[in-house]
Amino acid sequence: MIEEVDSNVKGVNIGDEVVIYNRLFDGTCRYCLIGHEELCVNGGLIGVVTNGGFAEYAVVPAINAIKVPKNVGLDEAATLPVGALTAWHMVFDRAGVKPGELVVIFGGATGNVGSYAVQFAKLAGATVIAVSRKASKVKDALMGARRRLRSNAGGGSSASERVK
Ligand SMILES: [Zn+2]
Repeated sequence: MIEEVDSNVKGVNIGDEVVIYNRLFDGTCRYCLIGHEELCVNGGLIGVVTNGGFAEYAVVPAINAIKVPKNVGLDEAATLPVGALTAWHMVFDRAGVKPGELVVIFGGATGNVGSYAVQFAKLAGATVIAVSRKASKVKDALMGARRRLRSNAGGGSSASERVK
């Protein structure tokens, strides 16, 4: 929750509930100018290049404070800056998933990033196959996947063989 705002800040106000985009960036370098502020040559992570990553109070640039809509819980919103952005980057920026494509999510498909990747790939119109070793989580965590496979930690056929 925003406790204090500098007088020249616009867009966030005292009392707003926010999540913090934890990547600092200058907005002017060659990477920022092409929309890849995560690669900013003058940037870094809050808590790594600055203090306050786990502090009760932290001072961050206003652009890093993202308002949480009233209909979104803070627990859900807290997963967005890392889990959702990482998955978004993988599915749309790196893989360029298109409608009708087959996407297989290996390793961590039931985790934070993997669950978002399943949802984003489905949103892109892909058929999604999700693979996880954690059988207890596969059913609930992989909503949207056409197929859910539990990989074997040892013995038996590997998940990649069963996908074929
Ligand atoms: Zn930059």
